[in-house]
Amino acid sequence: MSAIILDGKVTGKKLRENAKERTTLLRKQGHTPCLAVILVGDNPASHSYVKAKEKALAEAGMEGRSLRLGGETSEAELLGVIKSLNADDSVHGILVQLPLPRHIREAVVINAVDPRKDVDCFHRVNVGKLLLEEPGFLPCTPHGVIQLLREHKIPTKGAHAVVIGRSNIVGKPLAMLLARKEFNATVTMCHTGTKNLAFHTRQADILIAAVGQPGLITGDMVKRGAAVIDVGVNRVSVAGETGYRLTGDVVFEEAAQIAGWITPVPGGVGPMTIAMLMLNSLSAAEIRYGGKCGT
Ligand code: NAP
Repeated sequence: MSAIILDGKVTGKKLRENAKERTTLLRKQGHTPCLAVILVGDNPASHSYVKAKEKALAEAGMEGRSLRLGGETSEAELLGVIKSLNADDSVHGILVQLPLPRHIREAVVINAVDPRKDVDCFHRVNVGKLLLEEPGFLPCTPHGVIQLLREHKIPTKGAHAVVIGRSNIVGKPLAMLLARKEFNATVTMCHTGTKNLAFHTRQADILIAAVGQPGLITGDMVKRGAAVIDVGVNRVSVAGETGYRLTGDVVFEEAAQIAGWITPVPGGVGPMTIAMLMLNSLSAAEIRYGGKCGT
């Protein structure tokens, strides 16, 4: 293996320590940052994501208020919960764990969160600010990827970044961020309508897979020396106690022979997402008490 491993656990820890220090300062002024996390239903992956968030909040000295609602919760009931959290001054951030059960409209729920508490940056107001480059929250996973590139001094200026996936939460905002003058990458966005995916991926100085398909990106699709960022988190069935293992969208063993840098799964982008969530939650509290936005 020749690639440098982009260890999100190490970089994420540094960022979480920064969040902890700033939280201590805020607490000395009598304010404890509080993130409310709403989980509807019993999706096992969602449960483990919420647990990881609760642990990170506790470690940073922040309050985590988890609301676990049954899978039969109606959209109106969920909107009622969000309304009361919006009105609660002791809550600074609200996160609705996705996916929601099929009978609840995600867009309605996301846009019901007060944009000032939308630490995921999914609300249309915050998405607009992101596009217009106005101060505001940045979405956690795309921002985590940017921080990982920054930390490892991976050049973005003039680089060709190929983003596979165009979801509202990862692909689109990440492409928008990389195309900002600040980062100055030339961005290609790929999706299921892309013809000859490998033609595009082989040109990428920075290759980002945010698809959700294990093994989609094989070694022969990677340009030598590229930075390969694997956002994908897929549960693949295996024999054993848990019955599954986590894997990304990239065939790690193959890509690591060719790439200059690569993220592992798990331990790459995932811990960065959590770190950025801590920083956004803290920022939401700091802003409430007179600070500026900027994680
Ligand atoms: P999503 O909403 O399902 O979007 C997947 C995207 O991939 C879509 O734009 C889809 O194209 C594209 N796609 C699917 N198959 C493709 C193919 N064969 N070739 C090219 N493009 C293809 O997923 P998401 O929410 O962005 O998440 C993507 C992955 O990242 C998932 O594994 C998720 O679990 C993971 N994730 C990880 C983190 C983290 O913190 N590590 C955070 C969020 C998500 P179309 O638009 O044409 O359908």
